[in-house]
Amino acid sequence: MKILVADDDRTTRVLLTRTLVAWGYEVTSVDNGLDALEAVRGGQFRVVLSDWEMPGLHGPELCVRVREMSGPYVYLMLLTSHGTSSHVVEGLEAGADDYIAKPFDPPVLRARLTVARRHLALQDELASKNNELARANSELARIATTDPLLDIGNRRSFEDAIAHAHGNARRSGMGYGVVLADIDHFKRFNDRHGHTFGDHVLKCVAHALVDALGTAGQLFRYGGEELIAVAPEQNAGSLAALGERLRAAVEQMHLELPTGTLSSISVSVGTALFDPTEAISCQVVIDFADASLYQAKKLGRNRVVCWPFDDARPPHTSQF
Ligand code: GH3
Ligand code: MG
Ligand code: MG
Ligand code: MG
Repeated sequence: MKILVADDDRTTRVLLTRTLVAWGYEVTSVDNGLDALEAVRGGQFRVVLSDWEMPGLHGPELCVRVREMSGPYVYLMLLTSHGTSSHVVEGLEAGADDYIAKPFDPPVLRARLTVARRHLALQDELASKNNELARANSELARIATTDPLLDIGNRRSFEDAIAHAHGNARRSGMGYGVVLADIDHFKRFNDRHGHTFGDHVLKCVAHALVDALGTAGQLFRYGGEELIAVAPEQNAGSLAALGERLRAAVEQMHLELPTGTLSSISVSVGTALFDPTEAISCQVVIDFADASLYQAKKLGRNRVVCWPFDDARPPHTSQF
């Protein structure tokens, strides 16, 4: 372990260094507080034995400055002939971990260095546990917001994303769109080739849609075989084009059945644009896209219907 000794008195520096080296520590010594701070900033010292009275920064000031730094914990020991209780309090309040009277008593110093090592080992263990916890938390957050089959955002993250897009659109005055896609006759894949193949089809469709969407927005699993994209900064024309791009991407997939033959596959798509001048909630935007999707199914599937379509009636779900 590397120890930094900071003392303006040469004799003390030499004596301390000799003693610590004899105990197996690696020692660097400096004769003022500013050099001590620079050395600690270098990051290689975990224990500092500092004098109280020194040029540059005195001991307690050094403690305060070191405590302001981020990075691994540095164990600070003040070594001083200022032995009054108010000095002890001042030193500890400045951030020192220990306070040793000068002239130092070697067995006491040695025992206190053992305490320092124990303290640092606990600090390191805590830091590594905190890192593990932070990693576990971010993995949990990912799991909580990701669909495990399709590896895209789930319903929960869709709801966050649309609320976010809705808020942004209200502030910026620029509309956003949702594109809801439902695989046509998907049940047939399950029924004829099994659910594992059905899962594979779902993954292929999700990939095709993510690719076709590009940077225009984000795709989520809305439920079952329904996928929904939230696309910021859209107008009626760009949203209709985006819906068509997503539909065409699925139609152009080369889906190979377990029998080896290629199968056609398609999605029906409903889109709805949020116009920030209208006072509607994002749930109503979703309802409009849903009603448009229903209309696309009704008109024969593999097509895009944009809200408001001819004969559209306000979807009844928005009344709840
Ligand atoms: P439509 O064109 O009207 O949408 O017909 P469809 O067959 O696609 O629709 P339907 O709602 O009748 O069936 C959807 C099927 O999707 C039923 C359900 O078992 C299946 N499904 C939902 N989620 C999954 C999944 O994660 N994996 C698999 N393999 N199937 C799923
Ligand atoms: Mg001094
Ligand atoms: Mg379907
Ligand atoms: Mg469906």
